[in-house]
Amino acid sequence: MNTCAIVGINWGDEGKGRIVDLLTEQFNYVIRFQGGGNAGHTVINDRGSFALHLLPSGIFHDGVVNILGNGVALDPENLWKEIQEVRAKGISLTPENLKISDRASLLLPWHRDLDALEEQRLADRQYGSTKQGIAPFYSDKYQKKTVLAGELRNLNQFRAHLASLLEWKNLTLTGVYHSEPYTMEKLEQWIADYCLQILPFVCDTGKILKDAQKAGKSMLLEAQLGSLRDLDYGIVPYTTSSNTLAAYAPIGCGLPSLKTTDVIGVVKAYSTCVGEGPFVCEMFGEEAEKLREAGKEYGAKTGRPRRVGPVDLVATRYGVEVQGATKIALTKMDVLSDMAEIPVCVRYRLDGEETDEFPFPTDLDRAEAVIEKVPGWQTDISGVRKWEDLPKAAQDYVLMIEKAIGCSIAYVSVGPERESIIYR
Ligand code: GDP
Repeated sequence: MNTCAIVGINWGDEGKGRIVDLLTEQFNYVIRFQGGGNAGHTVINDRGSFALHLLPSGIFHDGVVNILGNGVALDPENLWKEIQEVRAKGISLTPENLKISDRASLLLPWHRDLDALEEQRLADRQYGSTKQGIAPFYSDKYQKKTVLAGELRNLNQFRAHLASLLEWKNLTLTGVYHSEPYTMEKLEQWIADYCLQILPFVCDTGKILKDAQKAGKSMLLEAQLGSLRDLDYGIVPYTTSSNTLAAYAPIGCGLPSLKTTDVIGVVKAYSTCVGEGPFVCEMFGEEAEKLREAGKEYGAKTGRPRRVGPVDLVATRYGVEVQGATKIALTKMDVLSDMAEIPVCVRYRLDGEETDEFPFPTDLDRAEAVIEKVPGWQTDISGVRKWEDLPKAAQDYVLMIEKAIGCSIAYVSVGPERESIIYR
């Protein structure tokens, strides 16, 4: 694998961080290419247990260069806090092993406020935002109303640019939302506390990657969230505001000419979904509560209980297709070990007809899950490291998913720790 994207196939939280952490030793560069600090990647390894939000999951390996590409929502405040938290646990983060693209746009303090104000205005029609400012950030980026990290190199010019944006943004804050205006003093504090702290990490990462490409170095492109949260191909409007697909990786990482040779799609052995929006395979009641507890399905960023359901073969097949996945990592198989029978969402029923196709976003509310049950294995598999040692029912479960989604499952994860993996 020379250039490999690791992406989510479902609604996010599939365990991408865990797979990136596992595979990083094969790569020279690990690059985040989209999204912000609005979701979390949990990584458990010999260095400890970490909930990463914006930092690439390759930071635990010596010699690996980690890059935050131009496609990310670069929040100086959250990033600086995260850097300090991770450093406090003994991980070295220096301008040598962490680099921020000078072309990354900055998430500004008012983006978080606007996110919360809009969700408040929507009241019971909320999108389920994590209120980290991601949607207002990306809309301003597309309106060219934010600043680039590299502008920090000339502070006077940076301040003047910010002052003109402030004047414009206060029209919305006060006029539309009847909220407090921002002041330049407040922004000066933000510059001093956070922007100047991250400035030493800012550089021309495009040039670094171009040189790396010429030298034949290997690159791992790390995505946030999953196919169904993609701004263009997901469950609009309950998506995130960036492209979560591997096809966006070359643009967002800083190397538009990159050809991604491998796309590893991460699929969870059952389904979870955080926040609002259609979730056709959702389970409720005691069965759902048991699965949520077994999988510890609470958001890494917000602590919110995740909605749960059986593996959804319709949504997963669609996710594999839009990601162009070449291999699958199936995670959290161990969580299903207690079940005598495992429900599987095999098709959807839409307007009285059964279908294998993932519906148009606004039709999803009318879709129902067609559930079939397959035998469980009822044995603890968390210690298994070889395919042939998995119980037959567990092997059959993997093979059933593989056949339905048309993509080979190359990794089966049976625990959160780095070594809890079966290679096929
Ligand atoms: P990401 O955003 O896709 O990286 O996923 P999250 O970190 O939000 O959620 C995945 C969670 O599942 C984390 O708490 C991981 O430690 C955990 N995890 C990953 N793989 C496995 C696995 O195979 N078994 C178990 N039990 N937990 C896992």
